[in-house]
Amino acid sequence: MTTTDRRLSLLKPTGSPTLGNLLGALRPMAAGQDDADCFYGVADLHALTIPHDPARLRTATRELATLMLAAGLDRSTLFVQSRVPAHAQLSYLLECVASVGELSRMIQFKGKRAGDRAGTTRTSLLTYPALMAADILLYRTHRVPVGDDQRQHVELARDLALRFNRTYGEVFVVPEITTPPVAARVMDLADPSTKMGKSGSEGAAGVIRLLDPPEQVRRVVARAVTDSETGPGAVRADRDEKPGITNLLEILVACGGSADGITTYGALKRAVTDAVVSVLEPLQRRHAELAADPAYVDAVFAAGAQRCREVTAPVLSAAEAAAGLGSLPAAG
Ligand code: AMP
Repeated sequence: MTTTDRRLSLLKPTGSPTLGNLLGALRPMAAGQDDADCFYGVADLHALTIPHDPARLRTATRELATLMLAAGLDRSTLFVQSRVPAHAQLSYLLECVASVGELSRMIQFKGKRAGDRAGTTRTSLLTYPALMAADILLYRTHRVPVGDDQRQHVELARDLALRFNRTYGEVFVVPEITTPPVAARVMDLADPSTKMGKSGSEGAAGVIRLLDPPEQVRRVVARAVTDSETGPGAVRADRDEKPGITNLLEILVACGGSADGITTYGALKRAVTDAVVSVLEPLQRRHAELAADPAYVDAVFAAGAQRCREVTAPVLSAAEAAAGLGSLPAAG
């Protein structure tokens, strides 16, 4: 088994990445690169769990791959999930130790399935946590840097690793989740009771996307939901009573700003806008440079996928052998 610290995290190419993806995942992923052997990928197979348009998937995959590099993930092994077939192969083995009961209890499955009276939800939406477990376990990953919304899925990966090891023999490392100290769950600015997600329509009222121009950031922050409290003590964090203000304060701090001396919601919003724009500007500049050189991005991801295929082959073989699969045993 590998002893170096291995980290793995994937992002789904299901729309333009948001400030939540940056603060909850991309930045913490970039920060850990020099202390560990990091594998970071574009989860294109996960994007097929909901109705999708192939052309848009291709565009979103390239945009996300380019943004990952622009966010500074240049000292990690970068790859597109479907280019490493072992992910889908191990996923099947893990489906064979997972139960329908535990998969149907996943919050994201229950949420997306609610309201589907016609029963057209894709089967892969039920089974994708097994694929996510395969993504993680295939690399004998120690740490999974993700936003707080992925906690339940990483718990499942741990359960499946333990169950597989107990049933068939020690094959997998049991991974730990790591979430950032602030902004582990960036909320939608127009509805701070829901997470800022990228699958809504472009230009959705409460979502800041990483490639949004400064005027768009300003508009979205200016319209952010606050509350009716006034007076010098109104600018304070209180997740239950003041979710909108708490979210703005978390974003401000995570983007390097400070609320010291700020007493009005207007001033808070101006500070949040400036802090967010100052984080997005260098990212957007680097994205533009990389987008002008797609062959470079292709080469980075091709080399990454090659390394992933090499690293994962022995782990898949060990899992198959433990489960009794493989070439014909000797006769007699
Ligand atoms: P996804 O966009 O679902 O593919 O998520 C990719 C990564 O971004 C995962 O690590 C998520 O936990 C993280 N993430 C997504 N949305 C948010 C959010 N609103 N706040 C913090 N982290 C997020």
